[in-house]
Amino acid sequence: MPSGTWISILDAPPESTCPELRQKVDEGLDPYAGKGEVRGKIVLLKPNYCDRLSYKTGAVTNPHLVRALCGYFLDRGAARVIVAEGGSANLRSTRPAFALNKLDEGSLGGATLFDVKEGAFREYPLPDPVGAKAGMTAVNVSAILDEADVVVNVPVMKTHILAGATLGYKNLKGLIRDDDKLAFHRNGLVLPILALSRIVRPRLVVMDGTVGMEGNGPLHGNPANKGVLVFSNDPDAAEIAALMIMGFEPADVEYIKTAAHMKLLDSDTLAFRNAAFTGLTPDKAVREFKKPAFPDFSRHNIRLLADGACSSCLNVIHACFANPVLSGAYRGSTIIVGKSGEAPGDTPPSKTIVFGTCRQKNSGCGVFIDGCPPDFISAYEKLHASNPLMSTIGLMMHKKKGNDGTTPRHLAER
Ligand code: SF4
Repeated sequence: MPSGTWISILDAPPESTCPELRQKVDEGLDPYAGKGEVRGKIVLLKPNYCDRLSYKTGAVTNPHLVRALCGYFLDRGAARVIVAEGGSANLRSTRPAFALNKLDEGSLGGATLFDVKEGAFREYPLPDPVGAKAGMTAVNVSAILDEADVVVNVPVMKTHILAGATLGYKNLKGLIRDDDKLAFHRNGLVLPILALSRIVRPRLVVMDGTVGMEGNGPLHGNPANKGVLVFSNDPDAAEIAALMIMGFEPADVEYIKTAAHMKLLDSDTLAFRNAAFTGLTPDKAVREFKKPAFPDFSRHNIRLLADGACSSCLNVIHACFANPVLSGAYRGSTIIVGKSGEAPGDTPPSKTIVFGTCRQKNSGCGVFIDGCPPDFISAYEKLHASNPLMSTIGLMMHKKKGNDGTTPRHLAER
């Protein structure tokens, strides 16, 4: 870890207003970034608005924090503040995700809002050895970065059903072109993300754990309401500190293990050697996020045939079938996903689920969930509607417990 690394961890209740979060931002950044460092500079904030979901679900950055940061940098003399994000590849535009969280230029005190999908991109080679191992040679990153003097990454602290957690490294994916996002998923996600995290090195990271997401993140878990913010000038230190706060042992998390193995992270970074802390230290700030739970396919005798499947499709499948009611209703079924492999032909159409546009050729074999990758909500609703048991079980649960367990909580709350 480079000397000069600093980390500031502060309590910030989930219901904090913009002025309250502005106080936290002053406290977290002023000792380091407030000394005229941004005067006359162009500051680019990269929050997470990956989908059209409210920050109250924990899936996206708290907009009050974004507003507080815009105010902070403008007050400290920044020439311009740009809030830039490109939502998931499923979205044609990021603007509905901004709008759902009431983020518009009128509310940003003079900062501008930029949808990465509307701008130009610049190609960067993916550095070896990570690029070579990931099977990708280049990635197209938003050219808006060329305008910025200071990049501030503002991710949400979320669990991730495949990667364990999604924090600052993965948030950078919102700066790349949509076809590269899909290519990242086709190439296992971890290695391309690590490569991207070496191309784009934000000057500051502000991790938003005011709400955050636990359980089956990154989109389908539950709001965590952990009330914490992490500020740092070192993207790696911020990542490790946030993982510890979430209750992970960083060295056991797969993508950190891979980064250490590839010498992208060293033991000094993992141990915070040479780092200065203000506020809480990570071990004193642990908020234990509920970890993702993989669906128990074997319990329900569900067969998953996933040759050549991308992580984004697997992600949606895991999120759908993490609901035990849905898994129960599809007992004995076969799920086919991914470009490679053949449909087995030994299950009837009522017990076959074909997942993803690349399996179009097998769409007549059973319930076909279209999309590349399919959108979770549409996938869940189609699976729900295609199985008569779902409404029967839902009715029984509703009578017994007063709720319908067939609907994931965050969908019910939308
Ligand atoms: S539909 Fe096929 S190509 Fe598209 S994300 Fe899913 S597995 Fe990958």
